[in-house]
Amino acid sequence: MHVTVQAYEQAMAHCSASLPNEGCGVFLGAHHAITAFQPLRNCSPHPRTRFALDPAEWIPLIYAPDQPVIGLVHSHPFSAAVPSEADHQLYWPDLPSYWIASFRDRRSPELACYRIRKSFAHGGEAAIDFLPMAYTIVT
Ligand SMILES: [Zn+2]
Repeated sequence: MHVTVQAYEQAMAHCSASLPNEGCGVFLGAHHAITAFQPLRNCSPHPRTRFALDPAEWIPLIYAPDQPVIGLVHSHPFSAAVPSEADHQLYWPDLPSYWIASFRDRRSPELACYRIRKSFAHGGEAAIDFLPMAYTIVT
């Protein structure tokens, strides 16, 4: 996965501006090259520990053919850049990448990239795993 320095900086700036709440948005691009960041509103009633997307903002992006959504970004204002219990319980759309920005250390925020593996147990219960994925920031 590649992300342009501009998209990276926009995502981190948006999440930083959303503090102390979780910030969210999407990465746009093609295949494994992210070229833009689109901030989205966090409409969760518990925005410090959860995020929720507004369907009115989110659904049109999914159907925009010129710039496909290839990553979902959200931040953890107070915890590490690892998926939380709440993240495991969310419904996640099928996208190539999922990004978590951690502002636990305000002076050096971190951005981690994952992909999701969905599995279905015999009872039909869906489970998801977040698998760490490497990425490169490009100019
Ligand atoms: Zn989270």
